[in-house]
Amino acid sequence: MMTEPPKSKDSDELCPICMRSKNKHTPKEMLVCSKKLQEFRKNQTEEAGIE
Ligand SMILES: [Zn+2]
Repeated sequence: MMTEPPKSKDSDELCPICMRSKNKHTPKEMLVCSKKLQEFRKNQTEEAGIE
């Protein structure tokens, strides 16, 4: 892998939906992304056949 680990001092997490720092999200964007993430996880679970 060529990716370097992020040297973040604070909890500078990357959003798995839009791949941007969560700190750079507006509250509205956070809402949209977390909603998408929930749907994404739900779809994954359904595809895996986990009840
Ligand atoms: Zn996001």
